[in-house]
Amino acid sequence: MNTEQRKSAPGVGMTSARTQSRLIQRLQDQGIHRLDVLNALTSIPRHHFVEEALAHRAYDDTALPIGFGQTISQPYIVALMTQALLEHASPEYPMNRVLEIGTGSGYQAAILAKLIPEVYSIERMKTLHQQAGMRLAHLNLAVHLKHGDGYAGWPEAAPFDGILVTAAAPDIPPALLDQLGPQGCLILPTGKTDEQQLLLVKRQGNHFQKTVLRAVRFVPFLPGTE
Ligand code: SAH
Repeated sequence: MNTEQRKSAPGVGMTSARTQSRLIQRLQDQGIHRLDVLNALTSIPRHHFVEEALAHRAYDDTALPIGFGQTISQPYIVALMTQALLEHASPEYPMNRVLEIGTGSGYQAAILAKLIPEVYSIERMKTLHQQAGMRLAHLNLAVHLKHGDGYAGWPEAAPFDGILVTAAAPDIPPALLDQLGPQGCLILPTGKTDEQQLLLVKRQGNHFQKTVLRAVRFVPFLPGTE
C-alpha cells in the first residue's frame, strides 16, 4: 500500500477516530471549552501532518518530530493558543485575519484555517514550507504561505487581528507588534529553552498589555532562512 492508500484504509481510519475522540476528551478535561476549537481539532486529521512511522502516535497529546530538528506542537498547546486567540475576538472586533510564524508541519495553520477567514503563515525552512503547502492543498485548506524569516512579519498583508508565534524568541520581534491591528493580540512563547512562558500581548492603540498564560517548551525562533 502506498501512503495515501494506507491513510484512507478503513482500519487506520477507525483507529484514528477512536484515539482522536480520546484526545478531544482529554483536551476538554484540561480546559479547552470552546466547541469551535474542539470541532476544528476533530475535523483535521493530525496523522496527515506527521511522518508515516509516527502516524500511530498522532493522537497522543504530545509534540512529535517533523524532521530538521523541528516538532509539530502538542495538540493541547495548539488548542490553547487557538482558544486564546478566539477569546480575544468580539462582535466589534472579529478575528478575521491571522498570521502564524513557524508553519512547521502546517497543523496549527490547518486548525486556524477551519476557524478564521484569512490565514497567513511563514516558515524559515524551505522543505518544511513546501511539505506543509502540499498537505494543506491535499485537505483543500486555503492558507497563504511564505518561505521567509518571521522576524520581519508579513508587512504587505498587515494589519493582523491576531498573530501566533510557534517558536520561542528571547524577546518580542518589534515588527510583529507593529503589524497588529489597533486592538490586535499576539500570542508567543518567549525565553530560553528550559524556562519559556507563553505570553498574550493585547494591543490597545499604542499600549501593549502582557499576560503570562503558562510555562511552555517550544523549539527556538531562529534567524534567516534555510
Ligand atoms: N506550528 C507548527 C510548529 C512547528 S515548530 C506546527 O503546527 O507544526 C516551529 C517552527 O518554527 C519550525 O518549523 C521552525 O523552522 C520555525 N521557525 C523558527 N524560527 C523561525 C523564523 N524566524 N521564521 C519563521 N519560522 C521559524
